Amino acid sequence: MLTADLLERTAPLYDRVRSVIPPIEWPSFAEDIDAILTLKKQRNAVILAHNYMTPEIFHCVSDIVGDSLALAREATKVDADVIVLAGVHFMAETAKMLNPNKTVLIPDSGAGCSLASSITAADVRLMREKHPGVPIVTYVNSTAAVKAESDICCTSGNALKVVESLGVDTVIMLPDEYLAQNIAAQTRVKVLTWAGHCEVHERFTANDVRTLRAENPGVIILAHPECPPEVVAEADYAGSTADMSAFVGREKPAKVVLLTECSMADNVCVGHPEVSFVRPCNLCPHMKRITLPKIRHALETMTEEVTIDPALAERARRSVERMLEVR
Ligand code: SF4
Repeated sequence: MLTADLLERTAPLYDRVRSVIPPIEWPSFAEDIDAILTLKKQRNAVILAHNYMTPEIFHCVSDIVGDSLALAREATKVDADVIVLAGVHFMAETAKMLNPNKTVLIPDSGAGCSLASSITAADVRLMREKHPGVPIVTYVNSTAAVKAESDICCTSGNALKVVESLGVDTVIMLPDEYLAQNIAAQTRVKVLTWAGHCEVHERFTANDVRTLRAENPGVIILAHPECPPEVVAEADYAGSTADMSAFVGREKPAKVVLLTECSMADNVCVGHPEVSFVRPCNLCPHMKRITLPKIRHALETMTEEVTIDPALAERARRSVERMLEVR
């Protein structure tokens, strides 16, 4: 029940997000947040939240936040019995692969990903047959079954390093065609691609970038490398979510646009009140399935638990661990 006590207890949390959550909306979040904080202690649980979570999740109940790479790395160091993954299903699978002895929960197992569902393990085996001896680099936005068929994983933050670490002249890069093309533009290594796309980033166009520039003189435009190459070419900088966030902190542009998922700008702007954010908004419908009530329900009922066949998990884990070894 929403009481004056509860509102007082959660007031310091509201201070973190007052620039992006109007006061009238806060009471609708406060009760769930308070309950989740108590449940985390009772269950010895931690919440790992992706950058595309809404601010009340990202800033008020999470223990570890970041992009796919950061969550994969931090998931290996978690000292808790239970991990709640506030993100999409492949991220929860990765957390389970790296923490086979922990209980991993996802608040909504229907939180998928257009990239992850663009390819199956059988497709990867066919690619390998078609291109014998060519290493397969798989973006972490993929299922455990696809990772298990791959030689090494990558994220948008480390893809170039991973490709160049292999010491070969040709690689297959799955499943994101645009990420692969954007990496190919930066290396001498020939990159064979797959036609998977992120349904959030593929919607940005070069014309959007030109319009944003015309309407906002002096604006700095940052693009995620899952955007089409012609969008990246028109932008001022391309980088992973972590890279974009670091860019804003380092360069402190007066006005900036992040060509990525909507909540990312909300979460970054909380730490940079001096920067003005222009917000073209493309929502990820999969990420937005994760809500405070569902996180609370997951911890109350200890559902939905993510499980992976141990033999498959072992093979998929090797691909992720090879990536984590690349420096
Ligand atoms: S933003 Fe794109 S890559 Fe990320 S979960 Fe959504 S559809 Fe998948």
